Amino acid sequence: MTISENVAAVKENIALAAALAHRSPSEITLLAASKMNDASRIREAFDAGISVFGENRVQEMLEKNALGAYAGARLHFIGHLQKNKAKQVVGLAELIHGVDSVALMQTISRLSAARGITQEVLLEVNIGQEPSKSGFSPSELPSALAVCETLPGIRVRGLMAIPPVCRNPDEIRPYFARMQQLFVDNGGKKYDNSVMDFLSLGMSGDYAIAIEYGSNLVRVGTGIFGPRSYAV
Ligand SMILES: *Cc1c(COP(=O)(O)O)cnc(C)c1O
Repeated sequence: MTISENVAAVKENIALAAALAHRSPSEITLLAASKMNDASRIREAFDAGISVFGENRVQEMLEKNALGAYAGARLHFIGHLQKNKAKQVVGLAELIHGVDSVALMQTISRLSAARGITQEVLLEVNIGQEPSKSGFSPSELPSALAVCETLPGIRVRGLMAIPPVCRNPDEIRPYFARMQQLFVDNGGKKYDNSVMDFLSLGMSGDYAIAIEYGSNLVRVGTGIFGPRSYAV
C-alpha cells in the first residue's frame, strides 16, 4: 500500500467510525505521527491530504523542519518534552500534546511570555496510572488547570493520553471512557487560559474505538506510513 492509499483508507475508517458514533467526520482531526519518516515521505503524506503532523523527538523535528517537511501543514509535538528542550519547541509546534507537569507548564509559560506569544498545549493524563509513564493523574487535573490560570503565555486546549498497551482492543474501552469523562468534567468548569476543545486519543490500532469515546484528534503513524524500522 502506498502512503496515499493508506491515507484514503484511514480517512474512510474515520468516516465510518464517526457515522457509527453519530458524529460528523469533520469534527475529527487526523494527525499523522511522522516519527522516523523522512521529509520526502512527509511530503508524500501532505500531498495525499494530511494537514497535521506530529513529532516525538525535538532534534528529529528540527532537522525535518529545516528541510521544509511540514511546509503548508500544521505541526504538533506529541512526545515527552524535557524542560531543557522546550525552548526549541515553543512557538514552532502549534500544539504541544504531552504537557505532563506543572514545572513544564511554568517553563513553557516563561518562554512564550518572553516572546510575546501564547503556546497552546494539551495536558497529558496518565490514565492507566502506570509508573513508567508520565502525565497528570486524573485527580491532579483541576489543580493543574488552576495553576494555568495564573500563567501568561500558555493556553490549555484539552487533554491527551496514551493508555496502557492492551492485548485485546476492547480492553482499552474503560481508559477511553474515563478520558471522555475527564474531558467533559474538566471542560465544564470555567478556567482562565483554558478552552477544552481537543481530546487527543487513539493511534493506529484503536483510533476507531477512540472516536466512539469522543476523540477529536487521532494520532496515526503506522496506519499511514507503514511499520517503522527501529534499526537506526
Ligand atoms: C508514534 C505515536 C503515535 C502513532 O502510533 P502508531 O501506533 O504508529 O499509530 C501516536 N501517538 C504518539 C504519542 C506516538 O508517539
